[in-house]
Amino acid sequence: MSDLLPDLESRVPEDYLPSALLRILNKSGARAVLSAPPQDLGLAESMPFPFLALVGQMEMRIALLLSVINPAVGGVLLIGPRGTGKTTAVRSLTGILPDIEVSTCPEGCLPEDFAREGAAGVCPECAEKLAKGIPITRLEPVRLIELPLNARLEDVVGGINERIAVQQNRIRLERGILARADQNLLYIDEVNLLEDSIADAILDASAAGNYTVRRGAMVGTYRSRFVLIGSMNPEEGNLRPQIMDRFGLRVAVRGLMDSSERLEVYRRVRAYRTNSRAFLREWASALVEAREEVSLARELLPEVTLTDEALALGLQLIQRLDIDSHRAEYAMFEAARAYAAADGRGRADVRDIRAVAPMALRQRRSAFMVEFFRQQQQEDDAIREQIDAITAETLLAPSASSAGSASGTPNVHASS
Ligand SMILES: [Zn+2]
Repeated sequence: MSDLLPDLESRVPEDYLPSALLRILNKSGARAVLSAPPQDLGLAESMPFPFLALVGQMEMRIALLLSVINPAVGGVLLIGPRGTGKTTAVRSLTGILPDIEVSTCPEGCLPEDFAREGAAGVCPECAEKLAKGIPITRLEPVRLIELPLNARLEDVVGGINERIAVQQNRIRLERGILARADQNLLYIDEVNLLEDSIADAILDASAAGNYTVRRGAMVGTYRSRFVLIGSMNPEEGNLRPQIMDRFGLRVAVRGLMDSSERLEVYRRVRAYRTNSRAFLREWASALVEAREEVSLARELLPEVTLTDEALALGLQLIQRLDIDSHRAEYAMFEAARAYAAADGRGRADVRDIRAVAPMALRQRRSAFMVEFFRQQQQEDDAIREQIDAITAETLLAPSASSAGSASGTPNVHASS
């Protein structure tokens, strides 16, 4: 191994715990060349740059991992200039994700529908298949759906298939990009340039896990349980605060400042471009291991609880930072649970809060809202002051005039 290879292990901030997953994340080596042919490991020609071969950018990579281990985190927004590896990192994420069970039916029937509602929950063909013990799903690798910037609202949510309508004189609702992203990753590059109505539709569908489209008399409800990842270059315009708030985690991505790290990036990218198959083979075993770790972390996640100290620290932090959005603690606590799960622990403690708080809480404070509430407080104080003044004038005045008279004085005398 070259001496120029950075010792990435030492660059992990101390707040980050050593964990199986994070150790794997840190592996700059993973030089074990597998003898197995790449296709046996599910490596396709189009396999993206390996997630583990990314250099540095630990916070971005941890945030991405937490969001796929626990989708309740609410996605990730990557903020930074061009060329810092944001898109490469997002594209590489699919390589460490376990396969998903997808429906083989055009209607999207799943065994869980049958489990919940019986035969009425699936289409007649699927009901028949299930009765015969024929599976209605197959395992597929997770896909990254990239939202084109010029996508129209009907591309995103789906609509009437005009081609079929014209050719076959038949109206059919088509699933949109959101439904196709179900169980996958949805990536919006330059999310700050996206039209408001589309951004809102995506965020609503992402939060609800499903959405309904109405076209005249036709209604379609689709699943949309995807992990949303956005990226933006702040030089090209700001994101509306309400959209910013809806991303669970926010990471500021800078270019690497360390020369040896930059050199390593150059070498790896060059190796990947020169002979991607060989490069991927080199990383294959580490990727398989990481996929296994993600799988284990996901299995553990439902059992992970937060300690009372962790909850108290998180809530106090929110209070001291003057953060209004309740999404802040939700994202922070869910990210802390994912962090503990990645570390193989069933309890998330203050160390997990420390590790995830910056990404969950940054950019949540609004100078405008702080000022707004401060002014509101002043106004409220002024209102109360006037109430007190009026009360004193109208109520105290008569009671003051009556103070010398009957009611109070005899008691005083009586008691003394
Ligand atoms: Zn079906």
